[in-house]
Amino acid sequence: MPETLEQSAGRFDTVLIANRGEIAVRIQRACRELGLKTVAICSEADRQAPYGKTADSFLCIGPSTAAKSYLNQDAILLAARLAGAGAIHPGYGFLSENAAFADAVEKAGLVFIGPTASSIAIMGDKISAKRAMMAAGVPCVPGPDTALPDDPATIERIALEIGYPVIIKAAGGGGGRGMRVVPKADVLHEAIALTREEARKAFGSRSLYMEKFLEHPRHIEIQVICDDHGNAVWLGHRDCSMQRRHQKVVEEAPAPGIAPDIIQPVGLACVQACLQIGYRGVGTFEFLYEDGAFYFIEMNTRLQVEHPVTEMTSGVDIVQAQIRVAQGHVLDLSQGDVACEGHSFECRINAEDPESFLPSAGVVTHLALPAGPGIRVDTHIHAGYKVSPYYDSLIAKLIVHAPTRAEAMARMREALAGTEVEGISTNIPFLRALFEDGAFAQGETDIHYLEQWLKLRRAA
Ligand code: ADP
Repeated sequence: MPETLEQSAGRFDTVLIANRGEIAVRIQRACRELGLKTVAICSEADRQAPYGKTADSFLCIGPSTAAKSYLNQDAILLAARLAGAGAIHPGYGFLSENAAFADAVEKAGLVFIGPTASSIAIMGDKISAKRAMMAAGVPCVPGPDTALPDDPATIERIALEIGYPVIIKAAGGGGGRGMRVVPKADVLHEAIALTREEARKAFGSRSLYMEKFLEHPRHIEIQVICDDHGNAVWLGHRDCSMQRRHQKVVEEAPAPGIAPDIIQPVGLACVQACLQIGYRGVGTFEFLYEDGAFYFIEMNTRLQVEHPVTEMTSGVDIVQAQIRVAQGHVLDLSQGDVACEGHSFECRINAEDPESFLPSAGVVTHLALPAGPGIRVDTHIHAGYKVSPYYDSLIAKLIVHAPTRAEAMARMREALAGTEVEGISTNIPFLRALFEDGAFAQGETDIHYLEQWLKLRRAA
């Protein structure tokens, strides 16, 4: 007999969190609030992690190197079996966008808290993602939805058709790597050879594609959530244009200066695309926005670092919603229920030198975190915490919410003033200076603004 919705919902009561750091804390909190038990895992370097103490089970799954612990699929599946987990939440990074892992989890009889392996595979390859989005009527950056061939003459013709400058991108790229801008024809082949080699080494695939390099775009993205029963909604938009080396530093919601009638059709196209590809779970459609037009660049098939700014404006707990959808529940909100209010900023606090941006490991000797109305801190660190050199340098996310953008900026200045981290270097001085910047305060700065601002500061 087929399962009814009621019978199929609530498919697990214990979740293994296959991640570390602030996102492990965030997911554990959401699980507990939903009445679910949690299994925390760690590498040897993370044995003292605070979320280990608050989890129902805590298992060390391997050495400090991520490849032998947080990326070790067999060790994670074994931990899930030993601890009796019914589901695995991958967080972001590590195995979160690994289709083979999603498949292995489901084959082991567990629920993968994320989309199906086939959705991850389609969207994980930026070329097939672009093709799927074009088919669903989502506007894309000009350029073919096929991989670049090896033939030099054909490559030259493609570049000419698009028009210089172009950007060469690895189909399997991520984290701001595997991209190279080509300003003119005479450096085209060299750029391709370098990017191919980089892509092969970093992503295990030499597949590349080419698109128009937009010279002054903003990065605007749309958050979606979909259930397994044909329901999908978008939760408004974010602006993540403040980037250094293609990596986001500050995010905000909503994207300033975007009229509702401009963004509305884009949000609806994203929802349509989700329904068309049978997408399940949370996801983000990333766009470049230039001269009033949106161009799709990629979809992230997972929870994102910057999800809190959307939680603050939409009032939706995205992690809880993600888990409930994975349990088979019908999405308990419709598009008409989504009303984004006020303005939110997120600062990524990194353990790094504020001038050179080199990672800074060591023991946090003193920590003071801000509190008050409209202030949220997502972190796993405490005084005495040892920041290890093995992983991403993100140690905390400082998030604020206020009725207007100007008030949210003022609140972030206050929050940053009240944040003290000693013992290691952090980017806090740099963030404080950025929130004093006039052009940023005006809003609508493009993706190159931060790099230019840094250059000017260094020259001064
Ligand atoms: P990743 O998966 O590595 O994050 P994305 O495709 O999302 O790569 O691009 C990351 C950033 O690179 C964008 O936010 C933008 O700053 C820049 N970028 C990507 N494609 C283009 C393009 N066609 N023109 C200009 N900048 C681009």
